[in-house]
Amino acid sequence: MTSPPRIAVVGGGPGGLTLARVLQRHGIDHVTVLEQEDSATARDQGRSLDLHAGSGQDALHAAGLYDTWAALARPEDQAGRRLTPDGTVLAEEPAEGFANPEIDRGQLRGLLLDALAPGTVRWGTRVETLTPRPDGSHELRVQGPDGPDVLVADLVVGADGAWSRVRPLLCDARPSYTGVTFVELFHTDVDRTRPTVAALAGRGSTMCFDGDRGLATQRLAAGNLGVYVSLRVDEAWVDGFPADDPPAARAALLAWFDGWAPALRDVVALADDAVVARRLYALPVGLRWPTHPGVTLLGDAAHLMSPFGGQGANLAMLDAADLAAAILHDPATATARYEAAMWPRGAAAAHGAAVGLATVGRGDEADDPRDAFLAAREQYT
Ligand SMILES: Cc1cc2nc3c(=O)[nH]c(=O)nc-3n(C[C@H](O)[C@H](O)[C@H](O)COP(=O)(O)OP(=O)(O)OC[C@H]3O[C@@H](n4cnc5c(N)ncnc54)[C@H](O)[C@@H]3O)c2cc1C
Repeated sequence: MTSPPRIAVVGGGPGGLTLARVLQRHGIDHVTVLEQEDSATARDQGRSLDLHAGSGQDALHAAGLYDTWAALARPEDQAGRRLTPDGTVLAEEPAEGFANPEIDRGQLRGLLLDALAPGTVRWGTRVETLTPRPDGSHELRVQGPDGPDVLVADLVVGADGAWSRVRPLLCDARPSYTGVTFVELFHTDVDRTRPTVAALAGRGSTMCFDGDRGLATQRLAAGNLGVYVSLRVDEAWVDGFPADDPPAARAALLAWFDGWAPALRDVVALADDAVVARRLYALPVGLRWPTHPGVTLLGDAAHLMSPFGGQGANLAMLDAADLAAAILHDPATATARYEAAMWPRGAAAAHGAAVGLATVGRGDEADDPRDAFLAAREQYT
């Protein structure tokens, strides 16, 4: 390994950007983030994330960005409630203190990017192949904005999400379909444009799950509201779903919610014309691989799980902070040191998410899937 090591981070999601930031903050400049998207705003970054003390917030401390984040975070959106299909409130959690405040993903990405040295992220650069070299380094063939290019790195970090290109260097695992598909809807400026939907949604999140169907609303920044329609359907269902014909998509979704309270149905019926259907996939719980000093994975690339535990982005950022600390300690042993802590933690969270997904809407779910994460922690440590 050259000193200092040349570090290639594949993927500029919350995990990859946090890693680059913590390294740079401690004087490691030979770090490049390769990101296939053309720019920070090329794609809607999705919805809101609550960052937890003990994971996402610890990573922000390590990145020196806690205060910047805290100024943007929305403690008022920590509130949550669960409804029955007739609209009765089953349980309600008030927004108290500053435990798990929310931030929109785009804002989180923006604050991480603003903290990086100019040129750290190579946008529009897709990693195509990785080839080991005799000295333990790797050659990365990329497709960039100016055509193909080749890079060499002593440490390659796969922070490239569910369909990681780096993972096959370490193991054969592939994500499998969880049996649940989300359809994401949106209400722009909801308080002004759809006051009845805003009143039902309140602050924070509101959820109603019944059998194979569920509706969840999530307050976003700038007065917007996100909606997740959750359906237990087979993997091919999306192929016949008319996402590109919003009125037909809303009608198809409403058929799932026959007999539900009109205010809940309005969450679907009155939504904007932006409709995104997303199958949920997960890696095997407890995935490990033979440690390699020159390659590792973090975040979804290492432990993709359904969002039913609310842990994925938090863990990606904590993985990044831990890996950065291990690199700063000793680059030669960094991957082994990092993986020893990351594997059990990722497995426990993935177990919790799997329990949450299997039980939600079935009348026997734990009050909070995070309880399943806490219960599973010892099993995987
Ligand atoms: C509907 C939904 C709701 C969620 N809600 C929450 C929540 O409330 N809280 C929470 O903590 N988590 C949540 N998650 C999980 C969270 O989104 C992920 O765990 C998190 O984004 C993982 O971060 P990451 O950095 O590991 O990967 P990603 O965010 O997936 O980023 C990977 C990046 O790699 C890039 N990339 C991929 N392949 C290549 C390549 N070959 N070359 C170059 N670049 C590449 C991608 O473009 C992407 O930018 C949710 C997930 C979903 C689907």
